[in-house]
This record gives sequence, structure tokens and C-alpha cells, in this order.
Amino acid sequence: MTSKAGQHGPGSGPIQISQEQVQARVQEIAAQIRSEYQGREPHLICVLNGAFMFHADLVRAVGIPLTVDFLQTSSYGDAKQSSGEVKLVKDLNFPLSGRHVILIEDIVDTGITMHYLLGYLEGRGPASLKVAALLSKPSRRRIEVPVDYLGFTIPDAFVYGYGLDRSQLDRNLPFITSQE
Ligand code: 5GP
Repeated sequence: MTSKAGQHGPGSGPIQISQEQVQARVQEIAAQIRSEYQGREPHLICVLNGAFMFHADLVRAVGIPLTVDFLQTSSYGDAKQSSGEVKLVKDLNFPLSGRHVILIEDIVDTGITMHYLLGYLEGRGPASLKVAALLSKPSRRRIEVPVDYLGFTIPDAFVYGYGLDRSQLDRNLPFITSQE
């Protein structure tokens, strides 16, 4: 099937992470979270839109009592470069005071979004705060940020699929792929 954005399916770029590889890594991270948060009812916050699939798979795989919430920052629009400015466009629905929070992000690129979000969440008084990111491009970092649970480290290329978009399309691909 084709669209304005071109052919759906894997791109011909250097980064190709199959559905099986993604799911295997999600299970590993979930097992780690399960053993570390047993009895603590962690609060898993999804950063919309890109992390929705990772978050949904992760919360099911963790398999212990937990709660979820969602927030959204201003996106790049259709541009592929960050403006360097982050705005909260959808706030949390639940307080964080006393909660063991895990922030679930799709990708840490420059680190600007994550840096902003960590400052914002810290200010709301969680008992603890950790970060799970599906992907990280360390060569692009402009601000160092902690990532406690990381799916895959990737080189600098534009990736999409498994929640990440290419001009808003292709979020529904079950794998991660890249353009040339
Ligand atoms: P940062 O603030 O770390 O530069 O950017 C983080 C956000 O930029 C991510 O949450 C994601 O929305 C977007 N982003 C960064 N790199 C990529 C990429 O390769 N593909 C897609 N689809 N989004 C990206």
C-alpha cells in the first residue's frame, strides 16, 4: 500500500530492528522492572505519541500491580530536527507525590525533551523517578540525561515504526526501521 509518505514497510536505511527483537527486548526490560518494583505499585508515565506502543507492551509484560498516566510535549511537527524548545501540551491526570515513577519515552535524541520532563516530574515530588527509553542516539546528545532501562542504542539516523512516526504515518509498523 502506498501513500503520500511513500511505500509502507521497512526502509532501506542502516537501522532495522525486527518485531521479534523488539518484543524480546521489551520482555527483558519488563522482567527487570518486575523484579525491582515488586510490591511498590510503580506509576508508568507514557510520553505521547511516540511511546504509546512501547508503553502498552511494557505495562502488559511487567505483570505486577501498577498505574499509568500520559503526558505529551510539543512535537517537532513534521520536521526532523528539534527546535530546542519543549512545551507540555497534555499534562498528567494524577499526582506523583509518594509514587515510584517510571517515565516511558520512545527515543532520547538530543536529550532536551527528557531533561525538561525530568525537571518537571521531579518538581511534583515522586518517591523515586526512573527512565525507560526504547531507543537512544548518544552521538546526538546535547544534554546528558540518565536512562535506567534502554531498549537499543542506535547511530544517528531517522527511525520510525513501533510508535515512532514518519510524517505522522507508520507508527503502526510492528518493527523499527530507518530511512537512508
Ligand atoms: P530530543 O528532545 O531528545 O532531541 O528528542 C526527543 C523526541 O524527538 C522523541 O521523543 C521523538 O518524538 C523525536 N525524535 C527524535 N529522533 C527521532 C527519530 O529518529 N524518529 C522519530 N520518528 N522521532 C524522533
